[in-house]
Amino acid sequence: MDKILFSEQQILDRTQLIANQINQDYKDKQLTLIAILNGSVVFFADLIKKITIPMQIDCLGVSSYEGTKSTGNVVFRQNKLQDFTDRHILLVDDILDTGLTLKATTEKFLNETNALSVNSCVLLSRKNNKHKLLIPRYTAFEISNEFVVGYGLDYNEEFRNLPHIEIFR
Ligand code: 5GP
Ligand code: MG
Repeated sequence: MDKILFSEQQILDRTQLIANQINQDYKDKQLTLIAILNGSVVFFADLIKKITIPMQIDCLGVSSYEGTKSTGNVVFRQNKLQDFTDRHILLVDDILDTGLTLKATTEKFLNETNALSVNSCVLLSRKNNKHKLLIPRYTAFEISNEFVVGYGLDYNEEFRNLPHIEIFR
C-alpha cells in the first residue's frame, strides 16, 4: 500500500509531541482550541485528548475547496463568534496549502473577538508553499504537492473516515 503517506500510529506519535509542546507553551494561560470544520475533526479529537492543561474548545465551519482545487474564496458557515476575552486562541486545521483559509480565519478572530492571541496548529503543511500567507505555530508533517485524503481530509466530502493519510489518485 504505497499510497499511504502517514499511518495512524505515525500521526498519533507526532500528535503527542505537539500536545507536549502546547502543554508547555500555554501553561498558566487560558486556552481555547478551535476546530476548523470539517477537515480537522479527526486530528482535533486526537490532539485534545493529549492536552493535559485546562482548556476549552469551539468549532468553526470554513470552506474554500471544491474537488482538488481551491476556490480562492473563504466562506464562514457561522457569523457571530464568542468574545473570547482574556483567552488565547489556537486554530486547528487539517492542512495549510496557500494559507488563505487560516489567514482569513486568524483575521476574523483578531477583528471580531477580544482574544489575547491567535495562533494555529496544522496536521499538514506544504513544503514548497511560496505564498507564506501565514506560518503556523505547530505543524505535524510537511508534504509536497500531492493531494491527500483520509484522517479528516476529503475529496468532495468522501474519505474523511480513513484512519491514515494517503495520496489521492
Ligand atoms: P488554503 O486555504 O491553505 O489554500 O487551503 C486549506 C484547505 O484546503 C484545507 O483546510 C483543506 O480543506 C483544503 N486542502 C488543501 N490541500 C488539500 C489536500 O491535499 N487534500 C485535501 N483533502 N484538502 C486539501
Ligand atoms: Mg476540505
